[in-house]
This record gives sequence, C-alpha cells and structure tokens, in this order.
Amino acid sequence: MKVFDLCCDADHLFEGWFASQEQFDSQLLAQQIGCPLCGSALIRRRPSASHLKLGAATPVAPVAVPAAQPAPQQSALVSAALRILATTEDVGERFAEEARRIHYKEAPERPIRGVATLQQARALEEEGVQVVALPFPELAKGTVQ
Ligand SMILES: [Zn+2]
Repeated sequence: MKVFDLCCDADHLFEGWFASQEQFDSQLLAQQIGCPLCGSALIRRRPSASHLKLGAATPVAPVAVPAAQPAPQQSALVSAALRILATTEDVGERFAEEARRIHYKEAPERPIRGVATLQQARALEEEGVQVVALPFPELAKGTVQ
C-alpha cells in the first residue's frame, strides 16, 4: 500500500491510498482520482513530507559552516589562556594589590594573574596598569603583564 500526498487544481490537499505506484499512475491518467473536496480530477502529486524535509535540509546545510567556525577560535582562546596560565604567577585575591605594587616598582616585575572585581580592574586601568580580562568565567581571573 502506498500513500501519496495529492493536490487538486484548486489546491485542496489530500492523501490517496493506492496498491502500488502503477495503480496510482494508471488511475491518475484515467482521471479516476477525484478531489474529495471539490471532485476535480485534475490531480497532481505533492512532494511527500519526507521529501520536503530532505529539500529543506539542503539550503540549511551551508548555514552550519559559519556556525562551526567559532570552534577553532575557541580553541585558540583556550590555548592562549593556557599559555597565560603557564607563564603567569597566580596571586589570587591579591591581584589588584600585587599589580599596583609591580606598577609602582615595589615588587619585582613579572606577569601575574588573579582575581579582581570589575571596580578593581577599572581602578588599575585608571592608574595605567594594563589589565587583561580572561574570557573564561570559570577562571574569573585577570592578568597583568
Ligand atoms: Zn479540490
């Protein structure tokens, strides 16, 4: 048994059940298929739902390409962050204090990282200390070089 999505010349949509594709073809040619709504015998097949889905998937596919691009960017960020983690001294909560001490030459100059509030980071920037916010919420740490 085959189910075809059909449509008459007045755009009435309905389903037709046939024993086979051949039976459908012969009934269609003989105009034995009538629209259940208006009785029109001018019937054509509509693409089935599965065909519609396949058809829709094709134009959607290229959209996935730009969506896939953030992945390498993210891994570049991850490797940049790992490099920062490997080359900086973790001063934790003392970040703002330590960054200021380095800035005013009260402590040896070295790259440090730690945690700072937005206010602290802004205050440091106003004093001319270069603070870089790391784009990783789970680290929530700033770094100064
Ligand atoms: Zn009709």
